[in-house]
Amino acid sequence: MPAIVFRNVEKSYEGKLGTFTALKDVNLVINPGEFVCIVGKSGAGKTTMTRLIYANETPTKGDVYFGKRKTSDIKRKHLPFFRRNFGTVFQDFKLLPQKTVFENVSYAMELIGRKSEDIENEVPKILEIVGLKGKEDKYPSQLSGGEKQKVSLARAIINNPDVIVADEPTGNLDPVTSWDIVRLLVKINELGTTVVLATHDKTVVDKLRKRVVTLDGGRIVNDEEQGKYIV
Ligand code: ADP
Repeated sequence: MPAIVFRNVEKSYEGKLGTFTALKDVNLVINPGEFVCIVGKSGAGKTTMTRLIYANETPTKGDVYFGKRKTSDIKRKHLPFFRRNFGTVFQDFKLLPQKTVFENVSYAMELIGRKSEDIENEVPKILEIVGLKGKEDKYPSQLSGGEKQKVSLARAIINNPDVIVADEPTGNLDPVTSWDIVRLLVKINELGTTVVLATHDKTVVDKLRKRVVTLDGGRIVNDEEQGKYIV
């Protein structure tokens, strides 16, 4: 069973100037455990695709499936529960400024009712995996961009999602730090999590050598597996 399927997907937005079609005729199958890069120029439809995956949007035509479930069939009240299948990472980190590194991550566990014993055990482990040991008590304003993104990654993986969706996670980072973050995504993928990485960072994509889906004007114009990841 594929993890994610797009079947004849079209996504249009209604605006002041009329209807704008951001995605057209999109067909895509992502299998569990895959690492897929979605690339394309600004406006190509990358963010729209990622939002369709975690049901932040529904298609105007066609269907998006997560496993057996059609995202457009999910009732509004069930969406928060459905989204537990996904960890999301964004360009602007979306950290809570009044909370420490530890609390930014533990809060994601509290929200879904995890036991405090689990929280005390698991947060330090995850912070160690992403390389933030010793930074537990810092606030986001005391961190570098790369460190902030690591907190965001830790938060995304803390509840063991099936899929990580990262939308331009390196957009605010320098090349060395960007590669650090991408390597963490690779590590998370190697531990079994499906990763969808939307980016316009060609250097990162070329170096990664993973499957690349290219969007242009809302259509998939290329989909290729480049071979093996090299450090
Ligand atoms: P990318 O991530 O590749 O830059 P997006 O998916 O963000 O592309 O956007 C694709 C197109 O859809 C853009 O032209 C954008 O302006 C338009 N768009 C995206 N979201 C909305 C929205 N909520 N309302 C209207 N137009 C939108």
